Amino acid sequence: MSRLLVAAGGKWDPALRDLAPEIELRRTDDMGDPSAIDYALVWMPPEGLLASLPNLKVIFSAAAGVDHILRDPSLPRHLPIVRMSDPYQGAMMAEYAIYAVLHFHRFFDVVARSEAEHRWDEQPVIYTPSKTVGVLGLGAIGQEVARRFALLGFSVRGWGRTPRMIEGLATHHGPAGLAEMLPLCDYVVCALPLTPETKGLIGADFLSRMRAGSALVNIGRGGHVVDDDLIAAIDSGHLRGAFLDVTSPEPLPAAHPFWSHPRIRITPHMAGELHPPTAARSVIANIRRFEAGEPLSNVYDGDRGY
Ligand code: NDP
Repeated sequence: MSRLLVAAGGKWDPALRDLAPEIELRRTDDMGDPSAIDYALVWMPPEGLLASLPNLKVIFSAAAGVDHILRDPSLPRHLPIVRMSDPYQGAMMAEYAIYAVLHFHRFFDVVARSEAEHRWDEQPVIYTPSKTVGVLGLGAIGQEVARRFALLGFSVRGWGRTPRMIEGLATHHGPAGLAEMLPLCDYVVCALPLTPETKGLIGADFLSRMRAGSALVNIGRGGHVVDDDLIAAIDSGHLRGAFLDVTSPEPLPAAHPFWSHPRIRITPHMAGELHPPTAARSVIANIRRFEAGEPLSNVYDGDRGY
């Protein structure tokens, strides 16, 4: 019998037990012998936890990103880290991105200000197919986001690191592709992983390439954005506003200028909560593959950074 340590919030145990009654589940407060643990499913593991498990074989991230695991200096670097892949999370992320884009697209940002002053300000008619959403990152999440914006009738473009052919989507890649895409977009949705290459990507140069009057939605990581540059781009009137689900640091300190900025909306990293009943399937499928000697899927690649 193999043993899986579950050190993640949420109700994982019933889903994991249903799918794989043969796997014994352990919790950190009831772990027993650490050398008996084969697998660990973790969200923000306390420093040293993973290093204290001498026979650990695979680390499962309870999130699409792995930055919360890599920050542990004692992380056993030789172990594979499997990123969470939950089809339902893509759908949730897309719902959030749609709400955030519609906030600008349907002038909710403008009418909220009129409403506060009891003014009945009518807004212009807009034609959705004439507006372009640019999605940064075309992974599991970015593709689902792009697909759903296309269903709403927007013109959609996407950007990744490497070339990708995706039906119904105009794609760009690399730095030149980004420079090409940004001026074409009315709304930019960031669904990138945080890597050394993407950290600070949304800074002065990026923002100046965005179309005048366009808006930014960030559902990736707070570290993608250079906060002062974003505020400067909005205050100068170049950018219409920003809708940010992620910040750096998190929680965002109460005195941070984003909170009180009239053109910035902040939410507490809630775009894509994991749904254990669906997400647990990928954990169990991967354990079964591993035990059958087959390659794991969705493994973090340290060279690429995601
Ligand atoms: P994937 O690994 O499936 O996809 C990552 C995408 O980003 C790929 O398309 C990849 O390009 C692209 N990318 C990576 N590096 C670069 C680069 N340097 N330049 C251009 N494109 C790049 O990730 P997911 O879609 O599963 O998740 C994306 C991110 O969403 C997570 O890492 C996390 O940060 C964030 N997230 C946020 C949540 C929230 O609640 N706010 C919840 C879940 C995730 P290529 O196609 O060429 O490989």
